[in-house]
Amino acid sequence: MGAPAARVSSSRSRADAMAIICPYCFRENSDPVLVCGWCSRDIAVPEALARERKDLIAKRDAAVAKLSRIRTEIASIRAKRKG
Ligand SMILES: [Zn+2]
Repeated sequence: MGAPAARVSSSRSRADAMAIICPYCFRENSDPVLVCGWCSRDIAVPEALARERKDLIAKRDAAVAKLSRIRTEIASIRAKRKG
């Protein structure tokens, strides 16, 4: 008693009508749910994390591009050595 009931914060969620694939059971949840309807695990991703993830993906893509460039370089060096 006395403790203020945690009001459901009406965070203006821009209804991203995107299906969420549960990272645990890989089933599709048609609504942006916080908990997977199939395995009841917490699948909500905080916006900060989502942004960080985007950042990491961009970094990864850059690294992959760099790697493929280096591989091409190595291949050309090897080809030259072989004559
Ligand atoms: Zn699930």
